[in-house]
This record gives sequence, structure tokens and C-alpha cells, in this order.
Amino acid sequence: SLTQKLNDIFKKLRGKGKLSEADVKQAMKEVRLALLEADVNFKVVKDLISKITERAIGQEVMESLTPAQQVIKIVNEELTSLMGSTQSKVDFSKEITIIMLVGLQGSGKTTTAGKLGKLLSKNGKKPLLVAADIYRPAAITQLKIVGEKVGLPVFTMGQQDPVDISKASVDYAKKHNHDVVIIDTAGRLHVDDDLMNELVNISHAVDPSEILLVVDSMTGQDAVNVAEEFNNRLQLTGLILTKLDGDSRGGAALSVKAVTGCPIKYVGMGEKLDDLEIFHPERMASRILGMGDVLTLIEKATADFDLKKAQELEDKLKTQSFDLNDFKDQLSQVKKMGSLDQILNMIPGFSQQKLKGVEIDDKELSRVEAIINSMTLEERSNPSIINGSRRKRIAAGSGTAIQDVNRLLKQYAQTKKMIKQFAGSDKSRKRSKQKL
Ligand code: GDP
Ligand code: MG
Repeated sequence: SLTQKLNDIFKKLRGKGKLSEADVKQAMKEVRLALLEADVNFKVVKDLISKITERAIGQEVMESLTPAQQVIKIVNEELTSLMGSTQSKVDFSKEITIIMLVGLQGSGKTTTAGKLGKLLSKNGKKPLLVAADIYRPAAITQLKIVGEKVGLPVFTMGQQDPVDISKASVDYAKKHNHDVVIIDTAGRLHVDDDLMNELVNISHAVDPSEILLVVDSMTGQDAVNVAEEFNNRLQLTGLILTKLDGDSRGGAALSVKAVTGCPIKYVGMGEKLDDLEIFHPERMASRILGMGDVLTLIEKATADFDLKKAQELEDKLKTQSFDLNDFKDQLSQVKKMGSLDQILNMIPGFSQQKLKGVEIDDKELSRVEAIINSMTLEERSNPSIINGSRRKRIAAGSGTAIQDVNRLLKQYAQTKKMIKQFAGSDKSRKRSKQKL
């Protein structure tokens, strides 16, 4: 992945101590290649590399005590500014915020309509979802199902004119005290005039606060091209990049703002209706550089359970005082936030690691709970005393097999080891920061 490659390049640089101009140029050559392989737009790469190089071979860097760190800092800053520097907010200034979601078929509009509705209702809004993709009856049904899952009403008028549906939905929203209207429009496999005309007509009819293009990040530069085409016809106010969970390259995320001028406002990080995040350029840059994204992690934690629990989680991670009770507690907390590897990816130093055997589903979770419930308090706080005969007793008591108990203890040991590593990498990061 891009992160892996950049890390390798920076590792080499770090090993060098003092850097010559040639060292920096060589590293930049490699960064350039890594970005091109990650499907970042070539012109964007060219500009980026010349900016980074110019800054990196400046006096301050070359003469500093930690030139490699300085170079990485510059790369981080330039990647951040490439993606827009600061968070681009949705315009909620009007009495009713009308958001049109547009994009090609399969890009994730309908799913994103539900995700966005859910996210906004968590923030106290009252969204109405609108089914304006009339060409396939299944599309209307799909939005209804999504609406039901997120607990939001869906406005439908069957297969009538999408412009009429959109206008009527706004009247309905006014009458029923909705302050956000999210319009799920039709897509095509390719950009065509019919589609564009329809979208332009809807936009003239309802004068939306936001026209957000939903694009599939896994399509790389195609996503960027699609964004350009849509932006030429519609006044896009922003982008939603979906399927970023499946995109190890990052080309679309890195180039689309620079090429189109449209900021990314949200990113889709999975198929579940909780998997939509506000886009923060500096956090994305850190993720790409393998520095993790602790802020988003902590925000997720605080959104999904109370602050105290999140604080506890953080403290446990820091102090490494982590027994089987905590293990059980964390498994269920982590489950609430999303998949375990998704969570761990946000922790610095974890991004590179494969997490085998730590996959948790609901069934597994109740088995784990049963097993831990069958342990004595002493066993829970000091798992190392759990020998063969204790394992047998615990298995019998929890109605599981000895293998299940063994697996649990192994997972616990693995998790504990990872937490230790995390705490270690956190410390070394602090140390290197002090050196700067
Ligand atoms: P539409 O045709 O634009 O309305 O697209 P859909 O909302 O029907 O989504 C198409 C497919 O993409 C569905 O299978 C979704 O589950 C999937 N999808 C959407 N967003 C994401 C995402 O952020 N991550 C992943 N992994 N899948 C997504
Ligand atoms: Mg759809």
C-alpha cells in the first residue's frame, strides 16, 4: 500500500542522520513513484513533489538535527494542503438544508443518503430522505429499507417526475418540521446528457444548499474524471468519497480536490450505516503516512458510548493495566464502534499490522462473555494462573470447549501484546517530537 511504501522510504531517510541534497532528491524520486503507483493524478504529483523538494532542501531542514523528521513533516503538511487544508463544512445556514446526492450508479448514493441522515440526526437534525431515483423500482425500495434501518422517514411518489418529487418533498419537509432534505437521485453507468439535464432541472427546482457528488474512491483516477465531468455541468459544493475502506492506494482522495477544486466533505469507510465520517484533510494525511488517526478514533468512541468509557479505554491503553475483565469490556465497546481492524487502523503504529485471530462476531462475543463469566475474580485479574485444570473447569462451566478457552486466552495475550506495542510507539513518538 501507499502507506507501506512511504514508511519504507522514510525509514531509509531516518537511518541516514544528516541528509545531503542528493539524499532528499533520491527520496523524492521514490515518493513520486509511490504516489503514481497509488494512482494519484500525474500533474498533482509533479506539483507536489516540486513543492516538497523545494522546502526540503532549504537550509532549515538540512541543518536541523533531525532532517528526516523535518522532511516527513513537510510531506505531511503538503499532503494536507493538497486535500484542502481544513475541514469543509456543510452549509446549514438556510432554514431547510437541501442536500442533493448525485453520482454514477453503484457509487454509493443510496447507502450514503442513509448514512448521512443518520450522522446528521445524531447531531440533532431532523432529516427527510427523498427517493428521486425512479428508473428502477428496486431503488425506491432500497432507500425505504435504508430509511427504516436508520429510523428516518422516506418521501416517495413512485415513478413520477424526479423534479416534481423533489419539489413536493421540500413542501412535505416544511409541513413536517424537517430541517434537512436529502435527495437520492438516479445514476447511470456513465455520464450522459439525459442524466445531467435531469440533475440540473432538480437543482433549479429546489435550489439546494449542497450538491454533493458521491464517488467510489476505489476507481482511482476515474473517480477524479467523473468529478470533473459532473462539476462542469452542476455547481458541486463538495464530494463524498465512498469505499475508502477498500482503497489502499489513496489516489482519488489525494488528487480530487487539487484537480476539481471541490472539497471532500465526507468519506464512506464501510458498508454499515455508521460508516460515514466527516473528512479532515490533516487526519487523512496522517492516516496515509501511517501515523494513525487517534482523533477520529476518540470521536467515534465518544459518539457511540459515553465519555467515561472512552476515557477508560484511553487510560487502559496508556497504562497497559489490562486484564480479562477489560478485555471483555473492550470487545463489546469496540464492536459498537465498527469492525476491530477498522478501529485499530486508526491507532498509530497499528496500520501496518495484520490482525489475525482477533476477528469478533456477535456469537463469538457471547461465547467470550460466557467463558470470562465462568472465571473466578482472581483468574480474571491474573490470567497467567489459568492452568490446564482451570481451563477444563471454565470450559465446562461456560458450556464451551477447552479449545474455545484456549483461543480466548490467546486472543487476550495477543491484544495485550499489541497494546504494549502501541504504548511503546506512543512514547517513542513523543520523544521524537521533543527532539524537533
Ligand atoms: P448507488 O447506486 O449510488 O445508490 O449505490 P448504493 O448505495 O446502492 O451502493 C452500491 C454498493 O456500494 C452497495 O453494495 C453498498 O453497500 C456499497 N457501498 C457504499 N458505500 C460504501 C463504503 O463506504 N464502503 C464499502 N465497502 N461499500 C460501500
Ligand atoms: Mg441508488
